[in-house]
Amino acid sequence: MKTAGLFAYPFLLILFAEALMGGSFKNKTIDFVYPDGNHKALIMSYDDGLMEDVRLIRLFDENNIIGTFNLNSGLLSTTKTWPQSNGPDIVAKYVSKDSLLLIYNKHEIAAHSATHKDFKNLGDSEILEEVTTDINNLNKLTKRKIVSMAYPFGNSNQHIANLIGHTGLTNARSVTDTYTFDLPDTFLLWHPTCHDSKALELVNDYLSLDNHGLSVFYVWGHSWEFNDAKRWDDISEFCKKIGNRKDIWYVGCGAFTDYQLALKRLTITKESISNPIDNKEVWFRQNGVLKVLKPGKSIKAGMQ
Ligand SMILES: [Zn+2]
Repeated sequence: MKTAGLFAYPFLLILFAEALMGGSFKNKTIDFVYPDGNHKALIMSYDDGLMEDVRLIRLFDENNIIGTFNLNSGLLSTTKTWPQSNGPDIVAKYVSKDSLLLIYNKHEIAAHSATHKDFKNLGDSEILEEVTTDINNLNKLTKRKIVSMAYPFGNSNQHIANLIGHTGLTNARSVTDTYTFDLPDTFLLWHPTCHDSKALELVNDYLSLDNHGLSVFYVWGHSWEFNDAKRWDDISEFCKKIGNRKDIWYVGCGAFTDYQLALKRLTITKESISNPIDNKEVWFRQNGVLKVLKPGKSIKAGMQ
């Protein structure tokens, strides 16, 4: 899998700063990091908004993990049967409309289309209707700005990604697993690391990953799949291993994307790195010390 452009970006800043110092770079690097000073991040993205989310959130909370929960606002407070091609029907009990802020209190609420139609069977206007209705409903129910989405059935393409780029969303996830920890080429057609059934196999690779660039372990799934006891044991073990650590940023998709877009907006010249006045603050290490670059401020590249 190719290395994403954004992944290379902070790494290049280090090299750039190193080159400026003519080899005596050991303590002169500018190393952009996440807001907590880390290079690693964990995203846990869960679809559909069924009652099983409640138990999963308890597990996340015990391990200091932040989830992103992608909800079908048109199905909230209902029970619906979903036929499965490879097993018994799923009887889906959706969380109730008036409990969203209670259940997802510490976690991100995101869109998943109003009624979970397959976008590949819809025209452009129908797709936009499904997405904007979901965003507006969720916004009204929670008073939160909705900026993230998971495509229903994971189905999307570049055309659909372009289309939803006009809805206020900053990021949307497919189900095309990359099995890498690279940042995406585009946030509106974001291919995750893996489904949670593979996450435990990759967790040691991520915990032992040692690099200078920013990375993310992006896991997706459905809490209703954890009615299988073995699957619940696996996700519990995964959360225990990767949670409650000092070297990982636990974050929702929206906050993560916001930060990456802020990094992209920095102006970099040979002499300096400037943060535009209307941008967000970004964090870096210089000579090993964690510092913040506030909007409207500059730093001299490679200098004290
Ligand atoms: Zn779904």
